[in-house]
Amino acid sequence: MSAQPVRDVVDLSHPLDDDTPVYPGDPVARFSPATTIDEHGYNVLHVRMGSQTGTHVDAPYHFLADGARIDELPLELFLGPAVIADVRGRAPHTAITWADLAPVAGRLAPGRMLLLHTGWDAHWGTDAYFDHPFLDGEAAERVVAAGVRTVGLDALSLDETVLGGEPAAGFAAHFAVLGAGGVIVENLRGLDAVRSTEPVVSVLPLRMTGADGAPVRAVAFDVG
Ligand SMILES: [Zn+2]
Repeated sequence: MSAQPVRDVVDLSHPLDDDTPVYPGDPVARFSPATTIDEHGYNVLHVRMGSQTGTHVDAPYHFLADGARIDELPLELFLGPAVIADVRGRAPHTAITWADLAPVAGRLAPGRMLLLHTGWDAHWGTDAYFDHPFLDGEAAERVVAAGVRTVGLDALSLDETVLGGEPAAGFAAHFAVLGAGGVIVENLRGLDAVRSTEPVVSVLPLRMTGADGAPVRAVAFDVG
C-alpha cells in the first residue's frame, strides 16, 4: 500500500508569545532577541517560559513523583485517532460529567484520544478564560477505564481553575489520567474547524529531558 497524503490539516495550537495566558503562578512567557541580523548577522530568539505554557501536554510526572517524564513516554500517546466530544455551551466552572460524554462513550477505546470541545478557546486572552468548564473526576475515571490514555481540551486545565486556591475537587481528573500512565493536552483551540468525526490528531511534545510537560504544535488531519 502506498502512503496516502494528509488533508484538511487544522491547527489546534494557540500562538506562543509574551501575551500567552498561563496557569496562575506559572512563569510567564518572555521572548526576546538573543541576536539580530543588524548586530550579529543572524536572528536567534531567547525563549523563556514554563514547561506548561500555551498548547501543551502534561506527563504523569506533573503530579506524580514517580510518574513518567515527558521524554519517557511512548510516542503513540501523542499521535492517533481522536474522538471529539461536543460539550460546548456550559456555564463557567461547570463540571463535565460522564453523562455529558454519553454521545461518544461507545467510541472510547484504547489507542483513541478524547478531546473535549468546550468552546472555551473563544475566551483566550480574557479573564473569562480562567472560568472554564472542567472534567469531573468520576468521568475521568470512566474515560480511563474505557482504555483512553490521552485526554485533551480547549481550555486552561482538565480540572477546575480557582484563582488564589485549589479547586474544591482537587486535581481528580489529572490524577485519574496521569495515574493511569496517560497524558493530558491543555489549551487546544480550533476544534470547531475539524470536520472529520474521527480525525488523526498529533500532539507530539518537545523532547525535553526529564520534564513534567512540554509545548506542542497540535494538529488534526485526515489521511487518504
Ligand atoms: Zn498542563
